[in-house]
Amino acid sequence: MEKKIIEIFRDYYSRFEFDSQYVEDLERREIAIWPFNSTTLIRHLSFSNFKDFKQFILKNVPMHVYNSVAKYQNPSIPNMESKSLIEAEVVFDIDIDHVNTSCKLEHDIWICKSCNKTGKGFVAECDNCGSLTIDKKSFVCNNCLDVAKDEVLKLIEDFLFSDFGLSKDDIKILFSGNRGYHVHIINKSFSSLDSRARNMLVDYVKGISARMYLKEMLKKKKFKFKGINSNGFFGRFAECIYDKINNRTYQDWEKFGLSSEKIEQIKKLKDVFLQELKQYDCDYSFLNVLGNYKERFIDECIREISVDIDERVTVDIHRLIRFPNSIHGKTGLKVVPIKYEDIYKFEPFRDALIFLKGEARISFKVKRNFPKIYMNDEEFDLNSVENKDIPLYLALYLYLGGYANIINFSI
Ligand SMILES: [Zn+2]
Ligand SMILES: [Zn+2]
Repeated sequence: MEKKIIEIFRDYYSRFEFDSQYVEDLERREIAIWPFNSTTLIRHLSFSNFKDFKQFILKNVPMHVYNSVAKYQNPSIPNMESKSLIEAEVVFDIDIDHVNTSCKLEHDIWICKSCNKTGKGFVAECDNCGSLTIDKKSFVCNNCLDVAKDEVLKLIEDFLFSDFGLSKDDIKILFSGNRGYHVHIINKSFSSLDSRARNMLVDYVKGISARMYLKEMLKKKKFKFKGINSNGFFGRFAECIYDKINNRTYQDWEKFGLSSEKIEQIKKLKDVFLQELKQYDCDYSFLNVLGNYKERFIDECIREISVDIDERVTVDIHRLIRFPNSIHGKTGLKVVPIKYEDIYKFEPFRDALIFLKGEARISFKVKRNFPKIYMNDEEFDLNSVENKDIPLYLALYLYLGGYANIINFSI
C-alpha cells in the first residue's frame, strides 16, 4: 500500500510549481524531510533554487517536508551556532490538540499510562491519579477546525493588527494540514527579536502575566483598573466583563454556580456595574459580589480574550515548520497558504484536499465512535463507511492518521 501512496504523493509534487512567493530566500533556509518508513528526520539540507529542491522531493518523496523559520548564512551546517543566524520569522502555532472543544467528548478517548483509567473528552491530567502521561486517541472534526479558525482570527485581528499595528501584508497564514494553523509575521522588525522578546509576545498573547496580576489585584479590597474605553488586552478584558454582566440570564448565572441570592444582587446592581466599567479608571471591587466565584469569572474572561498558542513554536528561533503546499503525511491534506481576505471562507476539509480523484475501501483498526465529518461539502458518517467505496481523500485521511487500513484503491 505504501508504494502506491508514495506514487500518488510523487504525482502531486511533479505537478506542483514551488516558488518564492511561499518561501522567500529558499537558499538561506534549512530544509528537512521525514521519509516514509523512517523514525528520524533528515535535517540540515539546503537548496540554491526551487528546481533542485523539486528534483530532490521527486526523488525522495517524503512523508513530511519542513523549512526553517530562520534564514542562515550556512543553512546546511549541522551545528546551530555555525549556521550563522540572519533572522527568523515570528510564528504562532494554533493547534486544536491543546484546546478543550466540546466535541472532544464525542470523539476523543484517553488512557492513563499510570493507572490505566480511560475516559472520554479532553483532559490535561488523569482525573484518577493525576498522572500527566496520558495516551490520547484523538480525532479532528469540522467543529474542531472551526474553533481553531476562530482562534486564528482573534490572534490576527485583536493582537497582530490592533495591538501590534501590523497589516495583512506583514503576515502569512497557513493551514497546517492537520489540526490547526500557522501564522507567520514577515515584518523585519519582528524577525530580529530574540527568544526572550518572543517569550514576552507569548506571555501577552496567552495572557499569562495578566492572569496572575488580576488575581493578585482581586485579593485587595479596592482595585482600580482600565475600563472598556481603554485599548489593548485590558480594554478587551473590561469589554468581556461588561458583556457577561450585561447579557447573562438568570439561568446562565445559575449554571455558572451562583446562588439565587447572589444572582438577585447582580440583577439589582447591574446598571451600577456597567456604569462603573465605562469609567477610564474603573473600580473592579464590584466583582466581590461573585464571592468565591470571582477567580473563575476572571479565568473565563482571560480564556476568551487570549489565544492558546503553542509557546514552544514561537520561542524557538531555529524551529522547523511545514513547507507551504507540501503534503501533511498524517492526513494527506495540503499545507495551504491562505490570504487574509480568504480566511473566513476557507474550509480545510474542502480547500486542503489534494486527492480528489479515486475511490478506496477501508477497514478500521480499532472500533470506536467517530463523529460525522464533512469533506468536500459531503457528509460522511464514519461509523458506516467500512467496506464501501469512499473517496480516496477520505480513505487516505483515515489511513495516514492510523485509524484504518486501506483494503484497496483505484484512481
Ligand atoms: Zn491515572
Ligand atoms: Zn471536534
